[in-house]
Amino acid sequence: MSTYLETLQEIKERIKEHLPINAMVTKIEFEGPEIAIYSKNPKVLVDNGDVIKVLAKKLQKRIVIRSDPSARLNKEEALKKIKEIVPPEAEITKVVFDDNLGEAVIEAKKPGLVIGKNGVTLKELTRAILWRPNVIRTPPRESKIVQLIRDILQNESQKRKQIMYDVGARIHRPPVFKTEWIRVTPLGGFREVGRTAILVQTKESNILIDCGVNVGAPEHAFPALNIPGFDIDALDAVIVTHAHLDHSGFVPYLYKYGYEGPVYATTATRNLMTLLQIDYLDVAERNGNLLPYSKKDIKKEVLHTITLDYGEVTDISPDVRLTLHNAGHILGSAIVHLHIGDGLYNLAYTGDFKFAKTRLLEPAATKFPRLEALIIESTYGAPNDVLPSRREAELKLIDILNRVLERGGKVLIPVLAVGRAQEVMLVLEEYMRKKKLKEAPIFIDGMILEATAIHTTHPEYLATDLREKIFHRGYNPFMAEYFEAVDSKDARIDIIEGDPAIIMATSGMLNGGPSVEYFKMMASDPKNAIIFVSYQVEGTLGRRVQKGLKEIQFSTPGSAKPELIQVNMDVYTVEGFSGHSDRKQLLKYIRRVTPKPNQIFTCHGESMKCVNLASSIHRMIRNVVTSAPHNLDTIRLK
Ligand code: ZN
Repeated sequence: MSTYLETLQEIKERIKEHLPINAMVTKIEFEGPEIAIYSKNPKVLVDNGDVIKVLAKKLQKRIVIRSDPSARLNKEEALKKIKEIVPPEAEITKVVFDDNLGEAVIEAKKPGLVIGKNGVTLKELTRAILWRPNVIRTPPRESKIVQLIRDILQNESQKRKQIMYDVGARIHRPPVFKTEWIRVTPLGGFREVGRTAILVQTKESNILIDCGVNVGAPEHAFPALNIPGFDIDALDAVIVTHAHLDHSGFVPYLYKYGYEGPVYATTATRNLMTLLQIDYLDVAERNGNLLPYSKKDIKKEVLHTITLDYGEVTDISPDVRLTLHNAGHILGSAIVHLHIGDGLYNLAYTGDFKFAKTRLLEPAATKFPRLEALIIESTYGAPNDVLPSRREAELKLIDILNRVLERGGKVLIPVLAVGRAQEVMLVLEEYMRKKKLKEAPIFIDGMILEATAIHTTHPEYLATDLREKIFHRGYNPFMAEYFEAVDSKDARIDIIEGDPAIIMATSGMLNGGPSVEYFKMMASDPKNAIIFVSYQVEGTLGRRVQKGLKEIQFSTPGSAKPELIQVNMDVYTVEGFSGHSDRKQLLKYIRRVTPKPNQIFTCHGESMKCVNLASSIHRMIRNVVTSAPHNLDTIRLK
């Protein structure tokens, strides 16, 4: 039987045919889905960029040029050259040399200036230092998570290299079976919201899309990974659409139970999901709940994650090719497109998506090269799930804020750390800057700070106009003077005793976190107000307050007597800030998506919403088969 080594040999021969002899290639190997070429004379390859491009196209592979250790300039000299070549305005904050990969990891406040126009500076650097420059952004706001991830990748670079080699070998194994059939099995998140996991199988490959937890339902918390037909050892790849825990929260569990393969996600998703997973463990630990995995498993996940940009086509198994597209839901969120069996079949899964422009993000992508089946979320799939427009929502929010601030009160906005918080921050910043919102400090508390820091580290995922503002006009609204970080209990007391203010704090449903502490201190004063800007799940404190409960009991640790809180503050709900498509947007998406799929499946919604959306789509478009599968209903696509 042939092995990946034969595939590699074949690739090597084809590459050598095309390269100039003086390239002095010393090694060609797999690096995950990519091919790495090591050379003693990488200058030649850098100067012959077109040859590499042609070669990459022929092989349908991405190629990365690396320098042989003997060719690399010594580190001191290299550092000196970097400082000579890169303009000081780029503000380099750190340079780390990775001996395993021959990379000079350059962290700079303005990475664009290290790269230069059309990559000119980067090429010059490569020629001068003979290390491969890898340019990354210094987080404008300090981010512990970004730092942690970068440290893991740098400290364990040897291990990471081996992982990438193994992943590459697995992807490039010659297929044993011809792709004759394709099937999809929902393991969670169908006809429900939470614990999303979708298993896609061919005779040759096993791919898992998302692997989430259901934070609100302990009895149905995890996807059904224990079914016959799901085998961790046979898994080729895990793809994560976005960082929310109902899509990413159970991924580290796979590593705990022996998974050694890759996770594919955007860089923003990798960073945000690491933040949310660590928090998930911290909260579970504080509440004395069972921990399904440990921080060690999260670290393993980070080491195995291969980040992809939108539109980058990547082989993830012998017969499956993956492309991620913008989903418009949260930073880095993606629609997954799978090209299966060399032209046999194409499947797209929307994940959570928004088909409208928001302040933060562009609307979800609608164009795919080919498409036979579409799996679409149904969070707002019922006929009456029509949300107010963003503009209406913003005006309502600003009006309430102005009234409460005028009368000398304070406003608490409990928010989800990732997505909603940043969207609301952008609204407040703009109205305050334009003097349409009474000036007052905006206190930011809880995990929002870290999530926002990750947003500022990855402006490339933000909406075009916002990116333009940050890159070309040098104005970053997230860094506006109105925002003040809160980091201690004492500071919270000072805020409550101080002047009128807006307070944004996690969690979004008052089920833990600083938002609950503020609520307790603010609730009894009728001058104050609380504004809910996100969905409040049944059973949470947020839902009870929203419904108008006037008296709330809190049990205090160490005290037998519960604390009684009177709710005299105004309670408002402002709808319309959702990161999901509402009913109108879902149907509009179906009309716009090209090419037209011939099968559409609904998921991620209450049972009735999934059913209703599926039948509405069926009525709207003839010749399309639709259904709302249950978890564990296996669908044969081909
Ligand atoms: Zn989501």
